[in-house]
Amino acid sequence: MKNMDVHPAKEPVIYVVEPYGGSVRKHMPTLPLIYWDDAGVTRGDGVFESLLVRGGKAANLERHGKRFRDSAKAMDLPEPPLEKWEEATRLAIADFCRGDDDVEAKCTWTYTRGRASTGHPTAWVVVQPIAPKVLEQRKKGVSVMTTPRLWQVAEELPAKTLNYAATMATLRLAREKGCEDVIFTDGDSGLVLEGATSTVISVKGKKLRTPAGPGILPGTTQAAVFDYAQEQGYRCKAKEMTVDDLKSADSVWLVSSVRVAARVTSLDGKKFKAPDNAKEIQDLFAAALSR
Ligand code: PLP
Repeated sequence: MKNMDVHPAKEPVIYVVEPYGGSVRKHMPTLPLIYWDDAGVTRGDGVFESLLVRGGKAANLERHGKRFRDSAKAMDLPEPPLEKWEEATRLAIADFCRGDDDVEAKCTWTYTRGRASTGHPTAWVVVQPIAPKVLEQRKKGVSVMTTPRLWQVAEELPAKTLNYAATMATLRLAREKGCEDVIFTDGDSGLVLEGATSTVISVKGKKLRTPAGPGILPGTTQAAVFDYAQEQGYRCKAKEMTVDDLKSADSVWLVSSVRVAARVTSLDGKKFKAPDNAKEIQDLFAAALSR
């Protein structure tokens, strides 16, 4: 079976970051980087960010930096020296894009609790091609099923932790059932939370809505979209939402940094026709990330 998650073309570029703010250095992608006792591997214990590279730079960098610091704090990791992460990001993007501002890519920051034997965190930045499946979903949208989320690392302080095993298992289950993505609902109230790796935005006329409530990761894409859309005359609000609220919207979108936006084409079997303003909404999302 062809693995659509792996891009065949271009080598990733890796920069290792010294966790307490020393130097950054380039790392060969063909050489090992992680030790056998790294808590990132043995426990999924760490945090990360995925950023879109567009126009020769990381989009929405400030919001990613803030969330990264907040995630580290929520997980009791030493405060990451953001200027070093940004330096590694600039260097990796320059190596990957080689001056071609039309190249789009995915940049990932990974920060683990590190080796059990040393207690020092492990930290690195990767820039790599965007998977073809992600690009396809931007164009074609995704079929989605809702499912209750029965776990949460820290409901009051949602952090972007490395622990996505349960999320990935849910996605595999969804795919077995013929869906491409999921929207999690709260196990008790049934209220809408978020996508597996995305924030939900519904559009009705000139109103943009995103679910509010505990346990939802604050999305950097949604925040950028709401700031920009508000300026463009849309009314934007985070509020509690039911699955029926989504079903009665003109369109529903899953937004995240690298995929940007995938329109929900069906939700629990209910089909959504492409709205007349689909292009306008897509352009709005794209413009929000290009500032
Ligand atoms: N919610 C979850 C659970 C995610 O994993 C992600 C991104 O990976 C998002 C929301 C969207 O966040 P962002 O727009 O910052 O990529």
